[in-house]
Amino acid sequence: MKGLLLLFLPILLFSCIEASLSNETIKPETNPYDSIFVARPEFVADQFDFPVGKPNAKGYYNAQGFKENNHLGDDWNGTGGGNTDLGDPIYSIANGYVAQAANEGGGWGNVIRIIHKMPDGSYMESLYAHCDSMLIEKGRLIKRGEQIATIGNADGAYYAHLHLEIRTTVDMPLGGGYSTNTTGFVDPTWFIKNH
Ligand SMILES: [Zn+2]
Repeated sequence: MKGLLLLFLPILLFSCIEASLSNETIKPETNPYDSIFVARPEFVADQFDFPVGKPNAKGYYNAQGFKENNHLGDDWNGTGGGNTDLGDPIYSIANGYVAQAANEGGGWGNVIRIIHKMPDGSYMESLYAHCDSMLIEKGRLIKRGEQIATIGNADGAYYAHLHLEIRTTVDMPLGGGYSTNTTGFVDPTWFIKNH
């Protein structure tokens, strides 16, 4: 009996944690993107890959991970260093809908935001910043691994790199890329490896 309890307790705890996490995301029936994905279910995000050196980030490294210096995402750089990765392709990490492809100025530069409907009906958002060129437009449906942009430096603000965020709440304000409050964000590397 004790053995059984030890076996099921972690499952029970995990279920509770998962239930509380999903409460933070927008309910499918109230999500403005639901009609898009109901009409085109082949664009539901069934699997996630890394956004550079697809599918496993070969030739790239994460120079600043999630929560490092209060960072809200990952900073992907080419292993060659400096600006050797300037102009390299950036791929959509999963199937989804392009909610934004626009220049935000300041430290952001060109920003692409993609909405992902998960198989369980919840929604996620991936955000790609400092892009050199953007190859897609707002309002498009996209497949995992499709090239969406090239790696840039936000008009010379940094050495070229890709700032990638994965958000559990869609359509939040852009924010500042750094915060001690990580509500609505997940560790991109952890999330991609687990999906
Ligand atoms: Zn960054």
